[in-house]
Amino acid sequence: MNLARLVAEARPAVHWTDQPDAPDPRPPLRSGVSTDLCVVGGGFTGLWAALQALEEQPGRRVVVLEAETCGFGASTRNGGFADVSLTHGVLNGLAHWPDDFDTLERLGRDNLDNLLATVDRYAIACHAHRADEVAFATAGWQLDDLTEEAETLRQHGLAHTLMDQSAAQARVHSPTFHGGLAHHDTLALLDPARLVWGLADAVESLGGIIHDGTRVEGIDETNGRLTVRSGTHTVVADRVIVATNAWAEPIRQMRRYIVPVYDHVLMTEPLTSEQLEAIGWADRAGLNDSGHQFHYYRRTHDDRILWGGYDANYYFGNGMGPEYEDRRSSHELIARHFFETFPQLEGLGFSHRWAGPIGTTSKFAATYGTRFDGRLSWVGGYTGLGVGASRFGARVALDLVDGLETERTALRMVRRKPIPFPPEPLRSLAIQTTRRAIAKADRTGEEGRLLRTLARFGVGFDS
Ligand SMILES: Cc1cc2nc3c(=O)[nH]c(=O)nc-3n(C[C@H](O)[C@H](O)[C@H](O)COP(=O)(O)OP(=O)(O)OC[C@H]3O[C@@H](n4cnc5c(N)ncnc54)[C@H](O)[C@@H]3O)c2cc1C
Repeated sequence: MNLARLVAEARPAVHWTDQPDAPDPRPPLRSGVSTDLCVVGGGFTGLWAALQALEEQPGRRVVVLEAETCGFGASTRNGGFADVSLTHGVLNGLAHWPDDFDTLERLGRDNLDNLLATVDRYAIACHAHRADEVAFATAGWQLDDLTEEAETLRQHGLAHTLMDQSAAQARVHSPTFHGGLAHHDTLALLDPARLVWGLADAVESLGGIIHDGTRVEGIDETNGRLTVRSGTHTVVADRVIVATNAWAEPIRQMRRYIVPVYDHVLMTEPLTSEQLEAIGWADRAGLNDSGHQFHYYRRTHDDRILWGGYDANYYFGNGMGPEYEDRRSSHELIARHFFETFPQLEGLGFSHRWAGPIGTTSKFAATYGTRFDGRLSWVGGYTGLGVGASRFGARVALDLVDGLETERTALRMVRRKPIPFPPEPLRSLAIQTTRRAIAKADRTGEEGRLLRTLARFGVGFDS
């Protein structure tokens, strides 16, 4: 099979937004504006912040400023796995915030329920449905890890099913599976671009104003109010929420804690009924394999397979831009893994290939900060689990700028920052060394000394 040709034939575009009914960009900011709340960044976090602010205080004046078009960042490029976890999974949550874990689980479940209720309330046609989340072991040591994880889930009363090799292969037919662990009631799958578009419409329906094409360059304080600058135009606001995630701008402090890593995705052509039958996977569960570097995969409503992950790349100096989105070697690598997982799909083509920036922290979950005596808050760094958690992150950011002391703002995850990444050139060196150690751990099944030491200090690198 000629993988290079298969990948080259895929459109270098994001499947979710490459749609005939994609909305036109909104007009950029062209004048000076005064407002109660200004939100910087129009991804999930920014739109959820605007929507929740408007729902909770009708009449509040809210302006969203987005550098490109709403959802341009990770929010329209992801797999559409909306997870209950606010902590990048149960094990990461227990490792970093054991005392808050049960609260975080409950808040995460409420958050997903409320996300889906909002989708219903505004009739957002994003094909959202609840689904099991199944991790498959593709090496013997991964099955040992899943077995241990199942025991942890049992201790915390979290619904799951551990599968041996034959049960796993019966559920989804892949010769690479050694077993699996299904998490029940933890996931909804959705079309992320349609969720972004629906949230933006909902914000406007409540009187919010959105400007695309408006990159914020700086925020200063003048006479007790905050001035948000974009070119020659300004928004003067009482409160500001910065939701720029992997871009980590324009507040410099964010770059200490959040680094961008580019994650790569392929979308197949729709499968025929024979191809679907050949792989099983009858129930539309969201799937992943369970190495340190892992693939996530799911069926779309029109029976394509989205296949992403594994090869997450960091570029010097928090490098970001279109030049990092078409890395052929990454797409060819994950295409090879796709056909190793499903050899029976040989002949299936890919319709789209793309990449997007994941904002990650050394604890793999969102981190928060404030400036200007708490009148500005920022949040970002959900790592690979922000589709659901960004709604919660937005809610916390609102609590912070409104000066509310809530169960959410009392969480250690909110009050304490993760260990910062070092400045360059050490940042690149540390990340690339850790990536090599992770790749070795996947090959050998043994975490080397570096990963064990980092884990002891509660630090890591993930996507
Ligand atoms: C390939 C990929 C797959 C993923 N898969 C999943 C998944 O299946 N499930 C999951 O839970 N999570 C997933 N994630 C992560 C998830 O998509 C993100 O955590 C989430 O979308 C973050 O939303 P956000 O609004 O905080 O950030 P973003 O969506 O990145 O939004 C930030 C916005 O800020 C704008 N901006 C930046 N700088 C400025 C500025 N100076 N002025 C104005 N605007 C600015 C950007 O243009 C951007 O639109 C994935 C991410 C990627 C990249």
